[in-house]
Amino acid sequence: PRRAAEIRALIRDVPDYPHPPVVFRDITPLLADGPALADVVEAFARLHLPDAAGRVLDGEIDVVAGMEARGFLLGAPLATRLGVGFLPLRKAGKLPPPVERVDYDLEYGSAAIELRTGTLRPGARVLLIDDVLATGGTARAAADLVERSGGHVMALAFLMELSGLGGRDRLAGRTVESLLRVG
Ligand code: 5GP
Repeated sequence: PRRAAEIRALIRDVPDYPHPPVVFRDITPLLADGPALADVVEAFARLHLPDAAGRVLDGEIDVVAGMEARGFLLGAPLATRLGVGFLPLRKAGKLPPPVERVDYDLEYGSAAIELRTGTLRPGARVLLIDDVLATGGTARAAADLVERSGGHVMALAFLMELSGLGGRDRLAGRTVESLLRVG
């Protein structure tokens, strides 16, 4: 597998986007690089597939659930690699009813994510995925949504963890898989 530094070099830092003082991490160049994208998907997959000794590091998965929108881009190929289905966790108002919904707070204002009622099998072992873990608000809401809908969150996978924003603390007690960590 490709070294973390090579993956990191394919994520562009965009200062003051969408507004100062945010440094936006743009994963578009990584998505455009076929071998790098495959390596990232493989790095997540191997935590949920049996190793040479038949052990599954972070648990077997029944379904991958991705956060809109960049969680879809990583989650769908990961689901295919694991041989399971994919559930989109969508921003409010995008899915036809009936839906399950969790509201959560953002730095400015609030947001909601929704899951189509009846698409998650009760007791399903779920792997949540998104591109970036920042404050952890989105990921925590997603985990709540899955659990209220009857699923078990086995782990939360992120391409990049922005350490220092408290995301890991907000997910305390959960398995967090981040391929890259930046300060
Ligand atoms: P949080 O809820 O952890 O504060 O923010 C994470 C959510 O916002 C994720 O859905 C993620 O896609 C998005 N996000 C926050 N900051 C960035 C960033 O710098 N780059 C990208 N690509 N997404 C971000």
